[in-house]
Amino acid sequence: MHCYDCAQEGRNENTGIGACTRCGLFTCADHSRIVHATVQRPIGVIPMTSVRPARRLVCGSCRTAEAA
Ligand SMILES: [Zn+2]
Ligand SMILES: [Zn+2]
Repeated sequence: MHCYDCAQEGRNENTGIGACTRCGLFTCADHSRIVHATVQRPIGVIPMTSVRPARRLVCGSCRTAEAA
């Protein structure tokens, strides 16, 4: 799978590293942002936030939109 953003720029050589969790498009390491995400785990009926962050891949466009 090739990176969508690279294909838009007319480059086809970069292989995607994963799919954006927001838009689902495949993007390469250059066009992806790995962000930390908190995980909620229910302990009994009480939701607890995991002390260790999970990670989430978002593409550059979605990251910009999230930060705007
Ligand atoms: Zn790319
Ligand atoms: Zn995206």
